[in-house]
Amino acid sequence: MNPIEIASEKISSGGRLNFAEALALYQQNDILRLASLARSVKERKSGNHVYYNVNRHINLTNICVSGCPLCAFGCKAEHSRAYVMEKAEVIEIVSKTVEETPDLSEIHMVSALHPDKPFSYYLEIVAAVKAAAPQVHLKAFTPVEIVHFATISKLSIRTVLEQLKAAGLDSLPGGGAEILDDTIRKIICPNKASKAEWIDVITTAHSLGLPTNATMLYGHIETIEQRIKHLITLRDIQDQTGGFQAFVAFPFHPANTGFTQLQRVSSWEDLKMIALARLILDNFDHIKAFWMMLTLPIAQLALAFGADDLDGTVVEEKIIHAAGATTKTGITKKEIISFVEETGYLAVERDTFYHPLKISSGVK
Ligand code: SF4
Repeated sequence: MNPIEIASEKISSGGRLNFAEALALYQQNDILRLASLARSVKERKSGNHVYYNVNRHINLTNICVSGCPLCAFGCKAEHSRAYVMEKAEVIEIVSKTVEETPDLSEIHMVSALHPDKPFSYYLEIVAAVKAAAPQVHLKAFTPVEIVHFATISKLSIRTVLEQLKAAGLDSLPGGGAEILDDTIRKIICPNKASKAEWIDVITTAHSLGLPTNATMLYGHIETIEQRIKHLITLRDIQDQTGGFQAFVAFPFHPANTGFTQLQRVSSWEDLKMIALARLILDNFDHIKAFWMMLTLPIAQLALAFGADDLDGTVVEEKIIHAAGATTKTGITKKEIISFVEETGYLAVERDTFYHPLKISSGVK
């Protein structure tokens, strides 16, 4: 039997792909049969629904102590593009967004590791955002930021998360995982959270009832084997905690980073990774094709490769665009719905927990 037939038989009998089987699937490169298998898993899990939400991104600062070679966003305080938002500015943005976007269901807030802002700055902003928009879900802070807060406050990871939760934090986005392999992290992000620290924050958050997403940044210096091990690590964590809501794969954008000699991976590779993730992560309900990273056309195609979520309307994203993404910084609901309906699926506006809020009237 070829790798697709082995995977198909294993998955249909309730089995789980092991490392060697996943690697063989990747290496076989039969992309249409891979898509078909991943799509059948997607339809078993979420039927003909494709999810999106109405969200707003806020990046509090780009001033960062970490200096990761992979990053195009962070900079020193002296840099001409350095900025930091104070609480009043954040609340002005939140209030204006709520006023202009009555359907807003989520604020997504991630930032660089500011050298001087104390942990109380973040606690106060969380509390103020929650007071300004109590009906809106606040998803904020990567595990990398949480480790930074623990360092600057001299508190434990658990206490940092407990205090943020008490202030109004609802969930974490799960970024900063990159590739969970310290040999890779030492090269692409030597000063930020290690693999063990990333896992510690995630499992502690899940134990406190704070769900997260899981992410992967691929297409830099990692091997395919390291990508597959990363996915299996996420699957193991999910077995243990059940706290991941969705998996999001980010292709690396080399522009303006320390790796400008690299090329962005191809769309073929993007689609293969979406399908492979759908097949390996059997205990994840949702695979997100983040349109802003992939571009809308590739994100739309990803719906035929096992993805069931396009993320949201976003509005003014800064981090990915610093790395040269040429996608728009936000799109309308109408555009998302039309992209989904073209595929024959139904566009489902969701909240952060994937509860359906509105279902489009597609034909499928
Ligand atoms: S990736 Fe994050 S931690 Fe690293 S330099 Fe960029 S903003 Fe700072």
